Amino acid sequence: MPTNCLFCRIAANEQPATRLYEDDDVIAIRDIAPRAPTHILLIPRRHIASALDLTDAEGPLLGRLFAVAADLARSEGIADDGYRLASNVGRWGGQTVDHLHIHLMGGRAFEWPPG
Ligand code: 5GP
Ligand code: ZN
Repeated sequence: MPTNCLFCRIAANEQPATRLYEDDDVIAIRDIAPRAPTHILLIPRRHIASALDLTDAEGPLLGRLFAVAADLARSEGIADDGYRLASNVGRWGGQTVDHLHIHLMGGRAFEWPPG
């Protein structure tokens, strides 16, 4: 585990976060600077730098991340109106934390394409 990685530290409970869900493979936390009424981050415990590093081997892990997102969308009350899932990759993709995460955002309408 990279000791200076923010999401590795949050996953290891070395850094505080509002945790909504966790299991052996995945954690879900509230974004510290929400851009929507509901803004949750789905994070694999294992350090993966970004979606650029994913292979077929991560298929089950990705399924778990999306399933947890769906469960949280229901429990947060945003499932019926719809929501946005996004994973930013690299500099031009807008990634600021280099540990794979999926944004779950809802509670308002979103533009397409994003800015
Ligand atoms: P990215 O910009 O990499 O797509 O997403 C990183 C997200 O992490 C941003 O939405 C940012 O607000 C969030 N974030 C940054 N630092 C922290 C933190 O210390 N705690 C939590 N819960 N979220 C953070
Ligand atoms: Zn990490």
